[in-house]
Amino acid sequence: MLTLDQTTTTATCDLPELVFNLRWAWNTETMRLFERIAPEVWASSRHNPVALLTGPQLDQTIDALARDPSLRWAIEQQRDELRKYLSVPTERAPRVAYFSAEFGLCECLPIYSGGLGVLAGDHLKAASDAGLPLVGVGLFYHQGYFRQALGWDGRQGEEYPLLDPESLPLELVRDADGEPIQFSLDFPQRPVWIRVWRAQVGRIPLFLLDTDFPDNDPVDRQITARLYGGDNDMRIRQEIILGRGGVQALQIMGEPIDVYHMNEGHAGFLALERIRTVMQRQGCSFKVAAEQVRSGLVFTTHTSVPAGIDYFDPAALQWYFGQYCQELGIDIQDILQLGREKPSDTTAWFSMAILALRMSRRSNAVSQLHQKVSMKLWSGLYIDPTSAPEPIRGITNGVHTATWIAPELASLLDRALDPDWRIHPERPENWRAIRSLSDQDLWSVRNTLRARLISEVGDRLNRADVLDPDILTIGFARRFATYKRAALILQDLDRLVGILTNPDRPVRILYAGKAHPRDEGGKDLIQALWRVMGDWRFNNSVIFLPDYDVELARFLVQGCDVWLNTPLRPHEASGTSGMKAALNGALNASILDGWWDEAYTPAIGWAIGDRAAEWADRGSHDSADAIATYETIEHQIAPLFYQRDSDGLPREWLAMVRNSLLTIAPAFSAARMVRQYRNELYAVAGQR
Ligand SMILES: *Cc1c(COP(=O)(O)O)cnc(C)c1O
Repeated sequence: MLTLDQTTTTATCDLPELVFNLRWAWNTETMRLFERIAPEVWASSRHNPVALLTGPQLDQTIDALARDPSLRWAIEQQRDELRKYLSVPTERAPRVAYFSAEFGLCECLPIYSGGLGVLAGDHLKAASDAGLPLVGVGLFYHQGYFRQALGWDGRQGEEYPLLDPESLPLELVRDADGEPIQFSLDFPQRPVWIRVWRAQVGRIPLFLLDTDFPDNDPVDRQITARLYGGDNDMRIRQEIILGRGGVQALQIMGEPIDVYHMNEGHAGFLALERIRTVMQRQGCSFKVAAEQVRSGLVFTTHTSVPAGIDYFDPAALQWYFGQYCQELGIDIQDILQLGREKPSDTTAWFSMAILALRMSRRSNAVSQLHQKVSMKLWSGLYIDPTSAPEPIRGITNGVHTATWIAPELASLLDRALDPDWRIHPERPENWRAIRSLSDQDLWSVRNTLRARLISEVGDRLNRADVLDPDILTIGFARRFATYKRAALILQDLDRLVGILTNPDRPVRILYAGKAHPRDEGGKDLIQALWRVMGDWRFNNSVIFLPDYDVELARFLVQGCDVWLNTPLRPHEASGTSGMKAALNGALNASILDGWWDEAYTPAIGWAIGDRAAEWADRGSHDSADAIATYETIEHQIAPLFYQRDSDGLPREWLAMVRNSLLTIAPAFSAARMVRQYRNELYAVAGQR
C-alpha cells in the first residue's frame, strides 16, 4: 500500500508515522501540516491524511516535500512531538476494554451517529492523554452512518458512500506470521468470520471488527455494513459480533483485560461471552461464572427514552444462542432471566440494558439528573433487594478539550494561562487566569471565530454575499430525535420573524443535524426548518446546514455566540454539544435538562422554562417552552449582546463568557470524566 521507499528523504518516511496515529485529530498543527502538503487532497478526502500517501497523490506529496524544505522540517518536528507524547508510560492500573457500537473520532471515519459516538471518541482521547491502560472495541461499518442530502422539497435523503478500510488510517491486525487474524462465531446456519482493524488513538488502540470479506456468505458480509442500519434481526447480529466477537478478538490478540466497560447496552453480549470463557476454563456452573464475571464488568447507560433501548424477542435469543446453551449445558431461560425485569415473566422481551445492569459490578448514568431518572426507569430491578444491582451512579459527561477548542482561542489562553491547562484541563485553578484576559482580546477572538463560521456557511450555501458576520448567531445542532424538539421555535412564526429580523438587534439561527433514516418525525422537523429557511420574511435568519458531522460541529460550536437546546425534560440524558460551545466562549440557553440542569447559574447562561411545572398534555408543555424560548432570546439574550460601551464592547456579555468558560471548561472536560470512571468504576471492578 505504501511505497515510500521510492523517496529518499527521511521526512517522507516519517509521514506514515504521523498519519497512522489519530493523535493528529486533536493536534491542529499536524492537521495544518497535512493541509499544507496537499490542500485539495486534504479537502476532497474529508480530511483523510492516508490520501496523501496513496495512488497518484503520493507523487504529489513527494513533489511537495521535495520543493519545500520547511514541510520536511515540520514533519520531523511533529514526529518528535508525537513520539514525546507516546513515550509517557501508561499508569499501572486495571486494564480496561471499552466496548461501544459507535466511535466519533474524526470526519474521515464516520462510524458514529451522534453524541454517544462522539463521547466514546472523546473517552479514548482523554484516556490516552491521562495514560490509562485502555483499549477500545467497536465495529468497522463499511458504509458508516449515512451522509445527509436534502431533496428539492427539503426531505432528508440518505447516501451511503463506501469506506475502503485500506485507504483509511486503519491497519489490519495480523498474527506473528503476518497473517491477518481471523476467527469465527457459530451462528445458527453457518460460522460468521471476523477480522479486526486497528486504529491507533494516541496511546490507545481501537479494535474494529469486520465481517465484510469473501470468506463470509454475502448476507453475513452485510452485518458490518451500516451503523443502526437494519431491522431488529440485523441489530442482534451486530451486537453478537460486537459483544461476543469483541471478547474473543481480545483473547486471540493476547490483550490482558481486567475490566470490561459496556458503553450503552449494545455491547451487553460481552457478558455472556465472558461467562462462557469462565465456565469452560473453570468447569463451574453458569451461576458461579456469572457472579465471577460480574465483578469485572461496568456499564454506562445513555438514554432516558425507552425507545432508545434495545429489546429482542425471546425467540431471537433462542435462535442465536441455541448452540451457546447446548455447548454450556444450560437452558435458554438462564440467559433470558438476565434481561428481564421480572425473571419469572417468560413472555417479556429481552432488554440489553437490563442484561448490562444485572451483569455489572457498577453502573452509571451520564448526568446527575439522568442518574435520578435512570433509578426511576429501572426501579423494577430494585424491588427485590436480594437480586437488585448496585444503585446507578451519576458521572456527568465531558468533552475532550483539545479536540473541541478553537486554535485561535487556545493561543490566546496560552498567553494568559499556565501551560498545564492543556495537560490538565480538569483542574479549575488552571483556568482562573481567564479573569485577566482583556475584553478587547476576548471579543476579538469571538469575532474571528464567528466570521470563520459565517464564511464557511456562505461557502456551503453559496450565499457569502448576504451573510453579515457581526449578527448575534445562535446554534442548534444535534441528532434530530423528536424529543430534542428542534423545531420548537417555529410554533409562532410571526413572533419569530419579529425577533430575528429586528433591525436594531438582528438574530440568526443556524441548524444542523440528521434524523435516523426510519424516523419520519425527525425528518418532518428538518423539512419544517427548511421551509422557513426559504420564507423571504426571514431574510436568511434561519439556516439549515445539511450533512452534520464532527467537522461541521467544530465550526458551529466554535463560532456561535449562543448554543440553544430545547429538549423535552427530562429526556436528554446529558447532551455534550453545549459543553463544546461553552469551551469556545459561547453562552448556553437551554431547558434545564441533562448536564445543564446541574451546570446552570444565572452568571453563566440562561435557563429556558420551568423545572417544576407540571403539564396536562404535550401540546401545552411545548407551547409554554416555545414562549419561554422567545422571551429569553428577545428580552435577555439579544439586548445583552447588542449592549455596547463607547469602545464598542459588550462588557456584560463578555463577563458572562468569562464566567461560563471558567466554570464549564474544567468541570465538563473529558479529562475530569475519565478520572471519575477510573476512580469510581475501573479501580473497583479491577480488584480481584
Ligand atoms: C457533540 C456532538 C453531538 C452531541 O450533541 P448533543 O447536543 O449532545 O446531542 C452530536 N453530533 C456531533 C457530530 C457532535 O459533535
